[in-house]
Amino acid sequence: CGIVAFVADHSIEERTVHALEKLEYRGYDSFGFAFAGDDGFEIVRGVGPLSESTARLIAGGLPPTGTAIAHTRWATHGKVSVPNAHPHRSFDGKFAVVHNGVIENYLELKRDLTAGGVVFASETDTEVIAHLLARHYAAGGDLDAALFATLGELSGEFGLAITCVDRPGLLIGVRRLSPIAVGIADDAGYICSDPVAVAGQDGWITYLEEDEIAFVTHDAVRVVSFTAPDFPGRTPERLPLD
Ligand code: GLU
Repeated sequence: CGIVAFVADHSIEERTVHALEKLEYRGYDSFGFAFAGDDGFEIVRGVGPLSESTARLIAGGLPPTGTAIAHTRWATHGKVSVPNAHPHRSFDGKFAVVHNGVIENYLELKRDLTAGGVVFASETDTEVIAHLLARHYAAGGDLDAALFATLGELSGEFGLAITCVDRPGLLIGVRRLSPIAVGIADDAGYICSDPVAVAGQDGWITYLEEDEIAFVTHDAVRVVSFTAPDFPGRTPERLPLD
């Protein structure tokens, strides 16, 4: 339902919590955050409204720098519960994923991953994405190749934000049939599903087109196609934030 993600040198938790709160108007049944640290991801999830848990989260002394991804969920596959709330983590602990939309072929992908020994922690369609990334990454050791291979296996609708513990300064945004925008706001790179999340900040925004990936760092954005031959890049148009 709602996605926000930041990569920043400071105040990562305040930025992320406040941006996710701006998406509350869209409605949701549960929420969650993943903060990337030295020991992997710190994941905080809950059912119901954000407010109390997020206050605790900010008070909890999370890492102030690095990457964070967050989500408000409208359940489509799997009941409303903490294990089904996003972010979902890969079996090897290297990837965390938040997802808007539906993976139509998830049962088939899940069957295949389960046969390969992967144990699922949720009933969602989303979780297959994290495990596929880990499987392809383990096979080739190359993040771009793992992304292209994983996205090529998915059918359905997916707006995504992804982080990988091996790449602490990088966020990945993906758009297919579910809106995703990226840019720089107040000296941080970000991904969001709705520009309301970063409205009023100092910076710019660009909207991904169908079947594009954005690689976002704290000061730069690179956009490439994940379906066109040779994965061509394009220079994103920078629109002002209002
Ligand atoms: N299909 C996913 C789920 O049920 C994502 C739902 C959403 O867009 O919030 O967990």
